[in-house]
Amino acid sequence: MSLGHNEALWSLDLKCALVGAGVRYPQEVYDAVADWARIEPPSNPYACNCLILPGEVAVHLHANESSRFSLRLEMQKTWLFEAETPVAEVTFPTASSYYQQKTSAGHPFGSIAVLEGRSTLAFFYLWSCEYIKANETCSFCFQVMADQAGFNLPSPSMSEVAEIIKWSIENAGVREVQLTAGSLFSSPTECRRYADLLRTIDQQVGLDRIKSEIYCYLTAPKKPTDVDQILEAGAARVGHDLHVWNPSLHARFAPGHARHVTRAGQLRALEHVAEKFGPNKAFSAFVAGLEPLEDMIEGAEYLASRGIVPAFSVWMPTPGSVTTDSKPPGLDYYRQARREFARLYKTYQLNPPGLPAGSHVSICRDIFRNMDAILAQ
Ligand code: SF4
Repeated sequence: MSLGHNEALWSLDLKCALVGAGVRYPQEVYDAVADWARIEPPSNPYACNCLILPGEVAVHLHANESSRFSLRLEMQKTWLFEAETPVAEVTFPTASSYYQQKTSAGHPFGSIAVLEGRSTLAFFYLWSCEYIKANETCSFCFQVMADQAGFNLPSPSMSEVAEIIKWSIENAGVREVQLTAGSLFSSPTECRRYADLLRTIDQQVGLDRIKSEIYCYLTAPKKPTDVDQILEAGAARVGHDLHVWNPSLHARFAPGHARHVTRAGQLRALEHVAEKFGPNKAFSAFVAGLEPLEDMIEGAEYLASRGIVPAFSVWMPTPGSVTTDSKPPGLDYYRQARREFARLYKTYQLNPPGLPAGSHVSICRDIFRNMDAILAQ
C-alpha cells in the first residue's frame, strides 16, 4: 500500500482505538527491536512507550492483555493486528539512553519528564497539585493518581529542568518541550513560577535551541493578565485545559477547576490571551469521549471563533476513576469530531501545538497535518 492520505486517516482511526483499548505487547517484540528502538519491556506497565503508525502518527503503547489489538513479528517487521487481521506495519522512535540518565540532584530523568514520539519532551508534573488537599482533583489525571498512590514524583529544581532539556536537545533529538504542573490555589504564584522557569531555561540552555516550540499547560489565572509574564518570558503559547465543555460534566470531572477557577474564569483567561497576544497563542484541550459530541463541538467552535485553539486529546480510561462507569465512544464519534476540528482549524486559520509523530494521546496536530484529506472525506 502506498503512503496515501487515506493511510494517515486510517492511522488516526487506529490511534483513537488504541488509546482506548491498549494492545497485547509480547516480550518477543521487545527482544526483536530493543537494540534500535526507544522502548521499555512489557514488564514495565508504567513505561511511556510509543508506537509510530503509518503517516508519522505516534500513539501511546499501553500493554493490555485483553485487547483486540496485538503486536506481532512478520518477516522481521512489527505489525499491528486486530484479532487475526494485520492492520498496519508499525515502527518505534530511535533508541536513546534518556531513561538511564539522572539529574545532578540524582533524580531519574523519567521521573520528571517523558519523551513522546520522535522529538517531544513532556514535563508532566513539575510540582504537586494543591487540589489534592481539597480532594477536588480531575478524574482522568494520571499524575495525581500516581501522586496519591505514593509514587515518588519529585518536584525538580528549575536547574534540573534546564539540565534535562539541554541533554535531550543534544542527545535525543528533542525539538518541542511541554511544561505541565499541578494547580496551585494562588495563580500569581503559579504564573511567576512558570515565568521564572522559562528565564532559567533561557539562561542555562537558550530558548532558541528549542527548534519547534516550548509551551505551558497551567491553571487559568483569576487575574488574566498574570499570564502575560509567561508569554513575555518566551513561552510560544499557553494552555488552560477545559477538558469538557458541558458545565455539569465539567464540575464532575474537574471539580477543582470548577470551584476555584470556574469555567467562566477559564474562558476569560483564554480570551484575554487571544485578545492581547493574537490567535494561536492560547489553547485548551478537550478530553474527547468524556461528553456528548455536540457539547464538545459547541465548545470547540466557541474557542476557535475567538482565535483560541481547541485541542483534542483521546480519552484513556483510568482504572479506579469516576469515568470507569463509561466506555470510550466508537470510531464514528472520533471521525465526526476530527472532521469538525479540521473544519474549525481551516475556517479560523488555527494551528494546534505539536509535531509529526509527536504526542501520544493528543491528535490535534495529526488532524491539522491531514486537514484537507479529512475535509475531502
Ligand atoms: S488540576 Fe487536574 S489535571 Fe491538573 S494536576 Fe490537578 S488534578 Fe491533574
